[in-house]
Amino acid sequence: NTETNQEWLQNYVDDWVSFYRKHTADGEVASYIPILQEANRDHLGITIIGNDGMRVSSGDVEVPFTIQSISKVFSFIIACMERGVSYILDRVDVEPTGEAFNSIMHLEMQQLKKPFNPLINAGAITVTSMLPGKTSDEKLKPLFDLMEKIIGYRPALNVDIYESERDSSMRNRAIGYYLLETGFLESDMNITLETYFKQCSIEVTLDDLAKMGMILANDGEDPNTLEEIIPRQVARLAKALMLTCGMYDASGKFAAYVGIPAKSGVSGGIIALSPPRVRDEELPFINGCGIGVYGPALDDKGNSIAGIRLLRHIASQWDLSIF
Ligand code: GLN
Repeated sequence: NTETNQEWLQNYVDDWVSFYRKHTADGEVASYIPILQEANRDHLGITIIGNDGMRVSSGDVEVPFTIQSISKVFSFIIACMERGVSYILDRVDVEPTGEAFNSIMHLEMQQLKKPFNPLINAGAITVTSMLPGKTSDEKLKPLFDLMEKIIGYRPALNVDIYESERDSSMRNRAIGYYLLETGFLESDMNITLETYFKQCSIEVTLDDLAKMGMILANDGEDPNTLEEIIPRQVARLAKALMLTCGMYDASGKFAAYVGIPAKSGVSGGIIALSPPRVRDEELPFINGCGIGVYGPALDDKGNSIAGIRLLRHIASQWDLSIF
């Protein structure tokens, strides 16, 4: 039954978190946004919420952090919901780049074609420019509404991080100007960037990410109420993008070694999910779950170093791979 199962899984996860916490020493906290450097590099936490109500939470689970690049998944979802899937896909591609998240190299290669995908900065900024509304608040309202519906409260902006990001945004401004020059931006460039920095600065907890992951695991439906929160087609697109492009230029390795859709952010957060499916009786009963991981010490690709190793371990122990 769920309760004994949960206790059993909890003990395992506690052991694994304390083991992988040592691995945080191999990584570095992001420093290109000055204030992100203040994060505690020893932190590591995970929350897993299962379809059957199972909830396992271990490590530094109370520490709030900014959603950063994980927001790209949800701004893409909102853009598709507000403007229609074909409108968005006519303007942003769905190909992995194999380049860093903020690379400008591929923009020139793509000259006059569309940005590679919505999960790298160029594509994400383009998607943000397609959100309806004139001001950043208008553009972000449906994103906040969606998050509130899933996590049960209206999330807040971390204003210090927003300002720090805005004031150190040379690279993203370069991308913005390039997109402006090539005609991809559908809104004023400054408003678009302001919206993008704000969406990255939304503060979340592991519980929130796990809940958001769980909705995606179920193709956009809340498994408890059966309400459609995200249209199925959009949820599936988002998961395909997470799998192929979600972990920056380490997405191939993550798909190969972990095998579940996931998206990371430079603050050290990762959202991941495992869809429900028929399972082998011998394996622990995790029939569909959403996962939030936080560990601000990053590897050289900008992914939580201990977080990835912890996810890899759990996915293999619990047979979570979608392959
Ligand atoms: N705010 C970040 C940026 O665009 C988001 C990047 C990330 O999490 N990789 O610079």
